[in-house]
Amino acid sequence: MRCIDSKEVKTRKDHQCFGCLEIIPVGTTMNRSTFASDNDGIWTNYQCAECDQYLIDNPDLNHEFKFYGVEEGFIYEHKQEESQDAPEK
Ligand SMILES: [Zn+2]
Repeated sequence: MRCIDSKEVKTRKDHQCFGCLEIIPVGTTMNRSTFASDNDGIWTNYQCAECDQYLIDNPDLNHEFKFYGVEEGFIYEHKQEESQDAPEK
């Protein structure tokens, strides 16, 4: 699968963020990415601004997201793993 389009849109209804699984209320600016896959056809994901920034800060994850496909909630899970790796205070 690959990302064929990505742009910022103002939502016209509530959307669940694909990255962190938060429900983002109507009227919020989100990033809408369109993907194409030989097997699954075309579909769209919505990410909140926070996840969008997270992908910019984590290019490896962004690459995985755009070219290999990731599970819903992948940013949420990545953040969980990061916090587990963090040294204890
Ligand atoms: Zn998010």
